[in-house]
Amino acid sequence: TTQKETLQFQTEVNQLLKLMIHSLYSNKEIFLRELISNASDACDKLRFEALSDDALFEGDSELRVDVEFDAEAGTLTVRDNGIGMSRDEVITNIGTIAKSGTREFFDQLSGDQAKDAKLIGQFGVGFYSAFIVADRVTLTTRRAGMGAEHGVRWESDGTGAYTLETVESPARGTEIVLHLREEERGDLLNDWRLRSIITKYSDHVPLPIRMRKTDDEGKPGEEWETVNKASALWQRPKSEITEDEYKEFYKYVGHDFADPLAWTHNRVEGRLEYTSLLYLPAKAPFDLWDRDQVHGIKLYVQRVFIMDDAEQLMPRYLRFVRGVIDSSDLPLNVSREILQGNRIIDQMRSGSVKKVLGLLEEMAEKEPEKYQTFWDEFGRVLKEGPGEDFANREQIAKLLRFASTHTDTEAQTVSLADYIARMPEGQDKIYYITADSFLAAKNSPHLELLRKKGIEVLLLSDRVDEWLTSHLQEFDGKSLVSVAKGDLDLGQIESEDERKSQEETEKAAEGLVERIKTALGERVEDVRVSHRLTSSPACIVLGEHDMALYMQQLLKQAGH
Ligand code: ADP
Ligand code: MG
Repeated sequence: TTQKETLQFQTEVNQLLKLMIHSLYSNKEIFLRELISNASDACDKLRFEALSDDALFEGDSELRVDVEFDAEAGTLTVRDNGIGMSRDEVITNIGTIAKSGTREFFDQLSGDQAKDAKLIGQFGVGFYSAFIVADRVTLTTRRAGMGAEHGVRWESDGTGAYTLETVESPARGTEIVLHLREEERGDLLNDWRLRSIITKYSDHVPLPIRMRKTDDEGKPGEEWETVNKASALWQRPKSEITEDEYKEFYKYVGHDFADPLAWTHNRVEGRLEYTSLLYLPAKAPFDLWDRDQVHGIKLYVQRVFIMDDAEQLMPRYLRFVRGVIDSSDLPLNVSREILQGNRIIDQMRSGSVKKVLGLLEEMAEKEPEKYQTFWDEFGRVLKEGPGEDFANREQIAKLLRFASTHTDTEAQTVSLADYIARMPEGQDKIYYITADSFLAAKNSPHLELLRKKGIEVLLLSDRVDEWLTSHLQEFDGKSLVSVAKGDLDLGQIESEDERKSQEETEKAAEGLVERIKTALGERVEDVRVSHRLTSSPACIVLGEHDMALYMQQLLKQAGH
């Protein structure tokens, strides 16, 4: 044993700890699910790293999680033989919160316990939840492949600091000992109670979770037995799986606290054989906008876990999808390199994308209110779709929702089909305007004439909208046209009389136009009489192929 070192928690950790203990107490037993989930992640990581270095198993490849308690000592222990941690990893993983979205999380806290508990759930409860029931936690760990002398012991009472020391630790993996608060012992240090928490929350962790066999008096003996089902839920027939089982499994694969919004479970047979169980979360995670955010699909081959976040399995615009894809065709020793450009992967991916889009389409049709909650959370991500997934462009376009002058509110509720259904006779285009805020779009002078004529215009103000409209130029045979770009051609909507009077106005203003042109010189490309304004005297119009004004400003600010 080397000298003990005392280190301080990052401020955010202290904040999170306090919050967690206060807000989650009524749901305290979830700490066990969190620790088991971490243990299971650690086993998954080891399995993945061992694909390229078998020696990491150190002769023991039966990965598992053991849970045991000692009523006299007042302790509860969770132990795994997964990847373990080095000293540096303990410091970064257990002493700090490196997660993206951390700032947003703390910004949104309100002090209202029920609301904050929900937010913590969304943010991720994690390891610190141990302190809901424990007043001291001792974590001993050794990373796979490192010698026994590289064991690390971490200990804390959860109030500001922790100690760290190097210990001799022959066993690979991580052991976490919770020294339970006096008042929790009676409730938790009991065989039946622990088994029921494990089956409630962790039944479908596809790894054995073991406890000691008990004797006739209910006292734990020497032998171990598996407590959970430890089976691959997705391989069972749909008809035998209950809603609750689906939901619990989601919380495990999705690392989520709340129920999923919907799921789709499919077995594909034929030239290719695979099973997919894909979930839509109800709420966006805090790191949805992080560019490095990982994808949430776990890849299995014949029920054996291969890797997490296999990004080749889901396109970026569906990065909120969570779940499992289990292939019968891939070799068990696949690596990330093999997955690149692999034909089997590509086909599983396009099949899975179709399932997710189909699920959304059905929800939009049959449960529009539920679909709206999905859209409000993930719509801005789905809008990346038409630019990323050419093959499914039409289907994605049907799923899009926008704000428009029809409702004149910021809520994005109008589909392109709704818009077309309301088009007056003679209108053959879908009109939209992009701006950097909803109000700027709604109050744009470019809309004056269209409003007067009662023609609906989509009001686009999400950052992604400029990208979307540059890739979605047409829907159902109608082109999408910006009312701020080029000559606004209203086609059949204008009458012969209107056109005549416009020509007359143009003639009358020729002299004025010339004078303005001379005054502005090279700064503008052209000066024209506009017919799109009814109350403003003038507006700036972009060339048909120019970038939107606010995009130009954005790029300028960024130094381009
Ligand atoms: P999350 O699981 O969402 O990353 P946690 O707070 O649960 O957050 O865990 C923080 C980190 O600590 C994990 O990402 C992992 O790196 C490390 N960790 C926790 N438990 C274990 C374990 N049993 N074995 C190895 N690493 C672990
Ligand atoms: Mg965790």
